[in-house]
Amino acid sequence: AKKQHEASVLQNALSDVSHVVLVLSGKGGVGKSTVSTQIAQSLSSRGYSVGLLDVDICGPSIPRMAGVIGQTVHQSAQGWQPVYANPNLAVMSISFLLEEGDAAVVWRGPRKNGLIKQFLTETDWGDDGLDYLIVDTPPGTSDEHISIVQYLNDARPMMVNGSNNSGASGAIVVTTPEEMSMADVRKELNFCKKTDVPVLGIVENMSGLQVKVSDLQFRRDDASDCTDDVIALLREKCPEVLSMTASTDVFATSGLGPKGMAERFKCPYLGKLPLDKNLLKACEEGSSFVENYPESPAASPLNKIVDSLIL
Ligand code: ADP
Repeated sequence: AKKQHEASVLQNALSDVSHVVLVLSGKGGVGKSTVSTQIAQSLSSRGYSVGLLDVDICGPSIPRMAGVIGQTVHQSAQGWQPVYANPNLAVMSISFLLEEGDAAVVWRGPRKNGLIKQFLTETDWGDDGLDYLIVDTPPGTSDEHISIVQYLNDARPMMVNGSNNSGASGAIVVTTPEEMSMADVRKELNFCKKTDVPVLGIVENMSGLQVKVSDLQFRRDDASDCTDDVIALLREKCPEVLSMTASTDVFATSGLGPKGMAERFKCPYLGKLPLDKNLLKACEEGSSFVENYPESPAASPLNKIVDSLIL
């Protein structure tokens, strides 16, 4: 009976959420929170109502990236009230509940699971519900992931495209291209298979560094700066080069690479996001990257990723 009651509370909290998208990564630092936040920002600026739920309890970076750092949440009769980054984007994160924003969270499994469940059951996403709930999960596959999927399955037994039985509409797996990160991606994909969560696609992040030639810095062999000279020379001899983009692979792929991996696992490949200083800047500012830096190299690939989520 207790389980049934729990399931019905969950059903309530999530019954007005059309799509739940889990964002997964095998390792930390590959851009999972960046992708979660920017997808949420972009969907919200396209007019969808979006919830961004940060359950990366050990390293909550979402509030900074969504521009709502230092805010607190309040509990009302309807549940926890999220913080609004804009009228269409509601954010809920563990760090809103911590007194010191940077206090390390060292909690054991049961307490973490309790909190995750509270987030899923007791966040009041508003009377009109949500078109999308984007869930930024911890890196790897852990107890927390199993709990999240289990809770969602209890709450939303048949809600997914009518095609399967998973409570999560699907998962996006973020990886960098090198083999070290890819090895962990296999585990994520197997986790999705085992738990019946459809993989919406793999995002290859930090794939190559792209810079406008006019933004490059040039050095002589003795390391002295000659940027001004080179730019002047280019302007005189071949000005069209200044507006070109230069690129280099930072994390080289040795094995299958993310695209080959997507083929092997028969899931969509959502494309490459290059290393882009404006993407980092938007995350530092807490702003929407595609809106504020539409000409930047990662903007068009990010827009395509968001397009693929319009279900
Ligand atoms: P994770 O959530 O996987 O731990 P983050 O999203 O926090 O990783 O990313 C780690 C750092 O790298 C952040 O400072 C983020 O802004 C930056 N970053 C992520 N992806 C890119 C990118 N494509 N270009 C530039 N910086 C990026």
